[in-house]
Amino acid sequence: MLKIFFLSFLFTYEIYVVKKNDVPSYILEKKINQKDLKARILNFFSLLNLTKNINIGDTFVFTDTLIIYKKDIFKTYYFYKKENYWNLAMPFYFLVRNKRVIKGKIENSLYFSMLSSGESPKLVSNFAEILEWDIDFFTESHKGDSWFCYLEKVYLVNINNETIPYDYGNIFAVRYYGRVGNFYGFYYKGYFYDFNGQSLKRGFLRSPLRYSYISSHFSFARFHPILKIVRPHLGIDYVAPKGTPVAAVGDGYISYLGYKGGYGNLIEIIHPNGYKTRYGHLSRFGKNIKKGKKVKQGEIIGYVGQTGLATGPHLHFEIIKDGRHINPLKIKTARYKVLTKEEIQEFQIVRDSLLKILQ
Ligand SMILES: [Zn+2]
Repeated sequence: MLKIFFLSFLFTYEIYVVKKNDVPSYILEKKINQKDLKARILNFFSLLNLTKNINIGDTFVFTDTLIIYKKDIFKTYYFYKKENYWNLAMPFYFLVRNKRVIKGKIENSLYFSMLSSGESPKLVSNFAEILEWDIDFFTESHKGDSWFCYLEKVYLVNINNETIPYDYGNIFAVRYYGRVGNFYGFYYKGYFYDFNGQSLKRGFLRSPLRYSYISSHFSFARFHPILKIVRPHLGIDYVAPKGTPVAAVGDGYISYLGYKGGYGNLIEIIHPNGYKTRYGHLSRFGKNIKKGKKVKQGEIIGYVGQTGLATGPHLHFEIIKDGRHINPLKIKTARYKVLTKEEIQEFQIVRDSLLKILQ
């Protein structure tokens, strides 16, 4: 127990830090003499559903006219005495949304660039997901490329004006500029569109290894050196660590799942419009992934391995159209949304207002 004296006010308070097996009634018993006050505070605790929900390390502050229960950075409860009556107040942190442009250059990877700008892996995921039909951030991102993001940042602000970054809000526009090209994404009516008003979302993802998925679920330290692609034959080999999740590049259904010669563990998916995709050398198949099952674009169907004829862990990926192999890096599948003439005009106004920001 601590007893601290404010020099200027000579006003005393006590801090109590919750220990193992503490319950509110026990703590209040030790700190409060008045029976009815104790009952009143306990009543607040039960109203707030906190009676069995206090944790080691939570803090109580007791004064004659104010009792503070600080649960965590987001939740602090004030029980205060006003005109001889105890009340509850919780308006400690409130949310503030700020529109901001953030940008950076790639030194090593998009992930590290965003993190070194003070952003979180969540932004890496959100950003990569917007552009994942056009850019494979594992293999097509290079040193010196730049990224821009115009978005809403959500902060928690308290009465002392202390600000804590809390979350990301809406993203209004993104741009990625580098060796791979100059790609924009402008948010309009629920979707992202490129410079010309074509929806970014397409029939097939750029790569079956989703950057957004990996950046949010794994420590990136384990993914060095950066994945490489090799093209020795009818498909692409993505060199990636064993266990890297493999996603279906488009909607479809599983037409083959099992061991097949040099492919090792193989999944084949049939998509609309005569397309088929194959994913070979898998170490294992995804949860509940079976032959005949419908899969969604981006869904995890298996994990990178080196089964079959493979000298090291990698994903063997093929796209077949009407029975012929095609180059996955050249494919441009259909756009998901098409804007009407009127919408295009409206979109252009939105785009032009955002364009200047992304420089
Ligand atoms: Zn291969």
